[in-house]
Amino acid sequence: MAAEIIFQSATRLAALLAAGNISSVELLQACLARTKAVDGRVKAFNSFDEAGALALAQASDARRAAGQARGPLDGIPVGLKDVIAVEGQPLTCSSKMLANFVSPYDATVTEKLRAAGAVLFGRLNMDEFAMGSSTENSAFGPTANPWDLTRVPGGSSGGSAAAVASGELPLTLGSDTGGSIRQPAALCGIVGLKPTYGLVSRYGLAAFASSLDQIGPLARTVEDTALLLGAIAGHDPRDSTSFKAEVPDYRAEMGRKQGPWRLGVPKEFFGAGLDPEISAVVKQAVGFYRKQGCEIKEVSLPLAAEYAIAVYYLIATAEASSNLARYDGIRYGHRSAAAKDAIDIYARSRAEGFGPEVKRRIILGTHVLSSGYYDAYYLRAQKVRTLIRNEFTAVLRDCDALLSPTSPGPAFKLGEKSADPLAMYLTDIYTISVNLAGLPGISIPCGFTGGGLPIGLQLIGRPFQEAELLAVARAYEQAHDWSQRHPAL
Ligand code: GLN
Repeated sequence: MAAEIIFQSATRLAALLAAGNISSVELLQACLARTKAVDGRVKAFNSFDEAGALALAQASDARRAAGQARGPLDGIPVGLKDVIAVEGQPLTCSSKMLANFVSPYDATVTEKLRAAGAVLFGRLNMDEFAMGSSTENSAFGPTANPWDLTRVPGGSSGGSAAAVASGELPLTLGSDTGGSIRQPAALCGIVGLKPTYGLVSRYGLAAFASSLDQIGPLARTVEDTALLLGAIAGHDPRDSTSFKAEVPDYRAEMGRKQGPWRLGVPKEFFGAGLDPEISAVVKQAVGFYRKQGCEIKEVSLPLAAEYAIAVYYLIATAEASSNLARYDGIRYGHRSAAAKDAIDIYARSRAEGFGPEVKRRIILGTHVLSSGYYDAYYLRAQKVRTLIRNEFTAVLRDCDALLSPTSPGPAFKLGEKSADPLAMYLTDIYTISVNLAGLPGISIPCGFTGGGLPIGLQLIGRPFQEAELLAVARAYEQAHDWSQRHPAL
């Protein structure tokens, strides 16, 4: 049983559950067995609550037996990045600061998954507070890439991507501030979607950079991505930035959207710094769309290409320095045992609790917000952000979606970029501007390097046009078999 189901899509598993071919408890046991077999090497999980998951799976089976199944996600195991709150479960953000913190409430996405009957399965590893591109900045140690255990899975949602790629779980949630869903999806050979800013509630997502953060799905297929997106999207009065709009049935809506589409290829996203193998494979994917009758236009995003990384590292660090001020050792989180007075508690608890990358960001963010530097850095970055958004808006007037590589290189070796923050920051060169513009972006598998490492194709869409974006992605997926390939672990 286990071997046949661990790499099935969630949509297929939902059909098997509906037909009574498997039970949710059997499915959970298959995922648990797989996790126990491989996670000692992959290390996707920070923790999992076996008893809690079993109770949810049993409840799902009981509902189904009573004819009260809630829909396609009922009984399907879903893993959550360890930055999304689940009542009564650890919420560590892979930080020593929150190593012993247990969440007193559910995030909105968690509530929605419960309502859909999903079996909440475990807490997935990440870069500390989602700051990183390799999952090496975790206080609990790195996650490995299932395709090559000596390489990184990408980040910051590396655990979420590795769990899906390795057959541990069919679906996971990640968060994406500058690429943290799409880049690990690309490096692990799966699908990952960052929704339009405002489509998914951030309530219960531990904040990194609030104007950029979005929760989104990681899955084996585009259809599964649509399924999970539909379950978590929607207006939430508890998140003032959440958008008031009807959530379509993405799977049905995507099926109705037919090409040919007008697709833009930003010329700056194929320039220096892009691995030639990746460039060639992504250009083949562009060629596929052309053969399908899509109109392919070369477009230009000069500001995004030139300034996105700099703008992001001003805005994201400024917001992080403010958001992370709450970890003071007083209200919750790590408190230094050596502290003598209140100021000493703040200083020592933060010095002991945060890792080096988080400290670097807090210091940089505090600096760019400080008087005398605010106008020169933070304010200017906000202005350039607006120009970048306008640039995308203009280009998307004549294009239904844009095509680019997701990441400039394939999965790199563990430790390879750890000593060089700038090299690490540059891995997000194609994803970061999408967050600055607030647009939806998806990464889908589009081939492998000669060395057998997955390559991702990024598709960028118009705001709140996820159904269209998913349809464009699916047209490619249906004509290729990349999602049928799995790492030999
Ligand atoms: N890698 C980027 C960073 O380090 C993006 C992270 C993210 O999207 N959370 O900030």
